[in-house]
Amino acid sequence: MAYRAATLTGSGAVAAWLVGATVLYGTGWAGGGVLAAFFVSSSLASRGAPPPSGVDPKGDRRDHRQVLANGGVAAAAALLGLHDSRLGLWLLTCALAAAAADTWATATGARSAASPRLILGGRMVPPGTSGGITPLGTAGGAAGATVVAAAGAIGAGIWVLLPVAALIGFGGMVLDSVLGAVAQGRFRCAGCAEPSEWRVHRCGHPTVHQGGLAWLDNDGVNLTAGLAAAGVAWAAWVWLCPCS
Ligand SMILES: [Zn+2]
Repeated sequence: MAYRAATLTGSGAVAAWLVGATVLYGTGWAGGGVLAAFFVSSSLASRGAPPPSGVDPKGDRRDHRQVLANGGVAAAAALLGLHDSRLGLWLLTCALAAAAADTWATATGARSAASPRLILGGRMVPPGTSGGITPLGTAGGAAGATVVAAAGAIGAGIWVLLPVAALIGFGGMVLDSVLGAVAQGRFRCAGCAEPSEWRVHRCGHPTVHQGGLAWLDNDGVNLTAGLAAAGVAWAAWVWLCPCS
């Protein structure tokens, strides 16, 4: 359906199917429900949002790298559900809460009348710049994390998972913005001099490295934030131990 609706490329649809099948295999319908809460709510939040204009977007359709950067950690967490179903749901929910926060923040922030500012330093940047945040986008990200956290808490029957996953999801979004501002590769087109996040600009000219880590793109930043969210979620599981 997402492929038909042009929100996923062919490779993105295959990757999404793999993530969905793995989540269902590892955590059953409870995990499938959390994944559905993420996917449906993120699609609704993104519907009709104006495309980011300031910085060279990759396109509206998500490919397999974007899908796996957002859903790969959740799928790996779900496989732990074969060993301990509540731990699997706990980690899956926190990873998807971080992905939802980032997706919702991008979609709601695109509607913001206020110009985004860099999360560190506060310099104004064009809409769509990695690491740029707005109050509206930040609130949207918190809402997205809370929706997924609520679905996970209901599915797992662990109520403390609601605040834990909402907070971890929000923290993952903040980390995503900080890495986007500081570490993500920044480029400039050699042809038209526009800023870009890619090695080749959409006009066809190669770009010149300007700052950040050249090998770290937005997908890498998303994956790193998801892994960090899962790591903190694991620590929270050990600390709160809702296993009795
Ligand atoms: Zn160009």
